[in-house]
Amino acid sequence: MNIVVCVKQVPDSTEVKINPETGHLIRAGVPSIINPYDHFALQAALELKKKHDFKVTLVSMGPPQAKSVVQLGMALGADEGILLSDMAFAGSDTWSTSYALARAIRKLGKIDLVLAGMQAIDGDTAQTGPGVAQQLGMPQVTFCEHVDVDGRRIIARKLIDGGYEIVEARPPVLLTMIMHKDYVPRYPSFLAVNASLKKPFHVWSAADIGAEPQFLGLKGSPTQVDKIYPPPQREKAAMFTGSGQEGMAKILQIMKAEHFIEE
Ligand SMILES: Cc1cc2nc3c(=O)[nH]c(=O)nc-3n(C[C@H](O)[C@H](O)[C@H](O)COP(=O)(O)OP(=O)(O)OC[C@H]3O[C@@H](n4cnc5c(N)ncnc54)[C@H](O)[C@@H]3O)c2cc1C
Repeated sequence: MNIVVCVKQVPDSTEVKINPETGHLIRAGVPSIINPYDHFALQAALELKKKHDFKVTLVSMGPPQAKSVVQLGMALGADEGILLSDMAFAGSDTWSTSYALARAIRKLGKIDLVLAGMQAIDGDTAQTGPGVAQQLGMPQVTFCEHVDVDGRRIIARKLIDGGYEIVEARPPVLLTMIMHKDYVPRYPSFLAVNASLKKPFHVWSAADIGAEPQFLGLKGSPTQVDKIYPPPQREKAAMFTGSGQEGMAKILQIMKAEHFIEE
């Protein structure tokens, strides 16, 4: 089977800053990491590769420096990496991003399984995975915590309220993966990083994937962001000292005063 994993480079979440005047994310000088959900999706793909000898290809869309997340994935064991990088992609919303990723996946030929993270920790929309499935005309299973393959059956364990559901699908199918203890994100050794430099890595432009310019970038995006701003700072929490019983009495007193509970 051929597996594609969509990996996104994101700013380290604790470091995200927003320019108060323009409302844009300040990315310069902010450390970047692989989107944590994608790291789990990658690990799931690599375990299937180890078990069944499948081929794993990574696809990422981003600026040239996003190469580092593709390189990380290849050092961990993926066979090939694609970076979609072109000024034509700049400003793309989730629809345009899904369109470009789907065009790239289609160019790769016969794909049996596409894995994406459930969401990116910066954009946080959780729309891209389902968007790619829609653009590829593939069925999708979201919120998966585990994936296995038995012959031509793809078996996904999907998280639902109060438990999980086992969903079987015939390929091709797209799964969005959550973070789960079944997959422990790993980091490569120095030797593995060196060896990965010899693996096939391609940078594709909009023209390379046959993307139509009117569907790309800010102009091709049906969503227009009005404003991005950080949430207002929360008031500092009140701290009480004393025994647990004294603290509880104070909390009850406040809850009554604020009419959260009746006298
Ligand atoms: C009008 C508008 C303009 C924007 N302009 C810019 C801009 O100029 N620069 C910019 O960086 N962002 C921009 N964005 C944000 C960008 O559209 C989103 O980051 C992107 O579409 C993914 O959405 P998300 O972050 O919510 O990911 P989610 O939908 O939450 O991601 C789910 C999963 O999809 C996959 N995925 C998502 N994005 C990518 C990717 N790029 N490559 C590979 N896999 C991916 C990953 O597996 C990820 O875990 C803009 C958004 C809007 C609405």
